[in-house]
Amino acid sequence: MAVTCLGALPAAALFTTPSGARADRLVTIREIASKLNLAVTQPAKKILLRNQTNTVELSTEGREARVNGQLVWLNAPPARNWGRWCLTETDAQKIVLPLLAPASYLKGYGTAVVVLDPGHGGNDPGACSPRGLVEPRIALDIAKRVRAKLVAEGFRAYLTRDVDRFIALDTRPRLAAVRQADLFLSIHLNAAANHDSRGVETYALTSPGYPSTSDAGGTSPKNNICYPANSRDAQNNIFGSFIQRNICAAAKTEDRGLRHARFVVIKDAPCVAALVECGFLSNPGDERRLMTDEHRDAIATGIAKGVIEYGRAVRRANPPPPALAKPRTP
Ligand SMILES: [Zn+2]
Repeated sequence: MAVTCLGALPAAALFTTPSGARADRLVTIREIASKLNLAVTQPAKKILLRNQTNTVELSTEGREARVNGQLVWLNAPPARNWGRWCLTETDAQKIVLPLLAPASYLKGYGTAVVVLDPGHGGNDPGACSPRGLVEPRIALDIAKRVRAKLVAEGFRAYLTRDVDRFIALDTRPRLAAVRQADLFLSIHLNAAANHDSRGVETYALTSPGYPSTSDAGGTSPKNNICYPANSRDAQNNIFGSFIQRNICAAAKTEDRGLRHARFVVIKDAPCVAALVECGFLSNPGDERRLMTDEHRDAIATGIAKGVIEYGRAVRRANPPPPALAKPRTP
């Protein structure tokens, strides 16, 4: 489905972002829906936009949304303006529309070179499970499996480290720049004080002015910084959503959604980038599964499929030029 830019939509109102120093615009959900031929209904505490091919489910009480069934955290909850429900233009243009029609946002983007970044290593131990599973080792194991799968599919795939050694956070995106990467994916394992937390979550860079997903307040002046990588917010969200969806399908893990954060490795990335947390070392179930080759391989399969799916969308957006007609022989 071709999706036109929302730029022509009239703004219902200006919107001051939670950090207080940036202005965004509000666009009414009905305007968005009519642009995309989606019908709008409002069951309790929800706003549903739907047609035969696409569904967007918004919560009137929070930032969680579902785009074609996939859990995605918006920058801001829907807002009411003069009785009409609205989304921020940032959420419409950088998250919802790109996820509905990825190819419309990938013109000029590449996919041939992928840099995989296994987190931590050396004297940076990362997280450790109760039974001694350590994050740098698991992340490296998964990254090596992803590299092998991508190379087999014709990608040029590199690792930022292929042994247990320390690499500074700000060096990692620079290594992606050296490789002239099209895609950068940092691979991590999670840990939480609450041992019930489990599953996979993927992060794209937070848009300027807005709080990251884990930040309920969002008033820090640091949230106003616009990083060069914010110029690729739509593409980062598309890439992150493909990675998240495919890991959850391949490894049958709990889906904690596409989230947003300002991690150093993604805010300084020279290309489309995301960071994935492949499971919780602090959760007994995730720990047990991460100990098996099968589960780590299933996660790697999901990541590789996410990259391949992103590559397909890039090819749809950038079809090869028509072949020149052969000169007629006299
Ligand atoms: Zn980590």
